[in-house]
Amino acid sequence: MKNAAKTFAAVCVLLIGTCLQASGLPQDSRVPGGVAVLDIAPASQHKPDLRFQQQPVLILSHQQRWLAVVGLPLSLTPGNHALTDKDGASVLQFSVADKAYPTQTLKVEPKYVEPPLEVQQRIARESALMRTAFARFSEPLPSSLVMRKPAEGPETSAFGLRRVFNGQSRNPHSGLDIGAPLNAEVVAPLAGKVVVTGDFYFNGNTVIVDHGGGLLSLFCHLNVINVREGQQLETGELIGRVGATGRVTGPHLHFSVNLTGARVEPSLFFLKETGK
Ligand SMILES: [Zn+2]
Repeated sequence: MKNAAKTFAAVCVLLIGTCLQASGLPQDSRVPGGVAVLDIAPASQHKPDLRFQQQPVLILSHQQRWLAVVGLPLSLTPGNHALTDKDGASVLQFSVADKAYPTQTLKVEPKYVEPPLEVQQRIARESALMRTAFARFSEPLPSSLVMRKPAEGPETSAFGLRRVFNGQSRNPHSGLDIGAPLNAEVVAPLAGKVVVTGDFYFNGNTVIVDHGGGLLSLFCHLNVINVREGQQLETGELIGRVGATGRVTGPHLHFSVNLTGARVEPSLFFLKETGK
């Protein structure tokens, strides 16, 4: 009986996943680093204008309903949270469960943990530039949020991994690493506009693509960048080639997905292959 209930629950989860995917929505995962897909109101009503922690929320219509698609930061405290109207009044409450991401303890050369003084200004400038890009909320909104994988290869470092370098706690891994060989193709996971290209201290050759509605994607350590800022991309168009630029030890693609200011689990957006 217990097993039957488990199987039933698993089938339900699968069906919900398939249903959301078919409609172009990410998987609903209400944990820090996840995405909450919340039913707000009938689409016959005015489109709601909502905030989550003062950030605008992506609202899409789906089967005659308004849905909120909310990026949940890795730093979010589990427990009850609320979407608010623009004056801060609570509109919808939802709860966020805890998630224990694995921890990786590494001993690395000190230069990876403490960048030299002369590059600290550069690092500050680059992180401000990334924050500004990730705060964008542009139109048009994406017609689908389901992404294709930007590169082929195994996942070599998971999203959310907590990292302790030389006994010091670092920021958790805000993207996922795809172990693709040097010069493998990196393609646009979704249509969008290139808003940042550059050579960054930690991230090496970097591209940020804005898909609209606060959804952006980040590609790091590229060997070659094949796009320019302002360029409009279709899904599957070449962005660049996998490399080992920046502060890394070998070629791989670091891929991050940002939803309204929060870096979230990229695999929630990937098209699930069926029949395999
Ligand atoms: Zn990475």
